[in-house]
Amino acid sequence: MDAELGAFSMNRLATKQYTVASPLSFTGIGVHNGQPSSLIIQPAPPNSGLSICRKYEDGHMSDSFALVHDRVARTYLCTAVDLGDSGTISMIEHVVSALSGLGIDNALLVVDGPECPVLDGSAQKYVDAIVENGITLQPAEKKFIKIKRSIIVRSNDAFAALEPYNGRAFDVEIDFESNVIGRQRMIFDWTPARYAEDVASARTFGFMRDAKVLRQAGYALGSSLENSIAVDEDKIMNTDGLRYEDEFVRHKLLDAVGDLALAGMPIYGKFRSYKGGHALNALVLNGLFASEQNYEIVGASDLPLEFDALQDLPHGINAESYIRSVG
Ligand SMILES: [Zn+2]
Repeated sequence: MDAELGAFSMNRLATKQYTVASPLSFTGIGVHNGQPSSLIIQPAPPNSGLSICRKYEDGHMSDSFALVHDRVARTYLCTAVDLGDSGTISMIEHVVSALSGLGIDNALLVVDGPECPVLDGSAQKYVDAIVENGITLQPAEKKFIKIKRSIIVRSNDAFAALEPYNGRAFDVEIDFESNVIGRQRMIFDWTPARYAEDVASARTFGFMRDAKVLRQAGYALGSSLENSIAVDEDKIMNTDGLRYEDEFVRHKLLDAVGDLALAGMPIYGKFRSYKGGHALNALVLNGLFASEQNYEIVGASDLPLEFDALQDLPHGINAESYIRSVG
């Protein structure tokens, strides 16, 4: 950031769209198929949003597809998107959560297989790489989908809801029949710095009692204590324990940030969920887009005080202006 830019200018710049400053590569395995997988996050032009394409062994690339809710192909255990003739890519929610959580508007994901790498089961490695390499502020105003009418979708006693709210908030509650999880609730008023601090490192989790059935069905073949919290009845199998006391609900919130980014733009409003997951997250977006009366698209400068959460970037991140000052 140029030294002569004062607080007011920073405020104005924070309302600009962001992309990653340089391509970022990640390699690992797919938690479900157990196969090696790599992913590159590439910078993308203003107003292009988040999109995805598949890269094949011979180097050729599929078309790229916008990461939006009507491309969701499956929501069992993770969120998978449909790339037409190039099949599906699953487990997109953690990398998309990192991008949306840090307020990145435009990026292209290049994935070399049918599943994104699980890495450590959280969004931490994506966030660390983005913070280390910086973001580029782009010459276009940040846009939001502002919720105008409440939408709620239910499945038995579980629900997901979007409501009008002056801010970008997530209120997520879970309730599991396990003493190490039980009932946990997290209310999160989004800023990029808070996402990096309080959400990004929460890992996915699973129950030992489900593992055998899942593996027989071809899922969780790559899951291990390196990339998941394993819960066996009332104890945690990971020798290092938890990263947060309520890591489970924080991970559900991480998933929700990723799934809701498939609105195509950040949502300005409140998301609430009880016993939710990928399926209800996808359904609430379908409900949102079922009527144009439910929302409107607004620019950051139309929001109260130009939405000052945008100024709270993670410590140490370099936000470089796309248009540099001369001299
Ligand atoms: Zn997850």
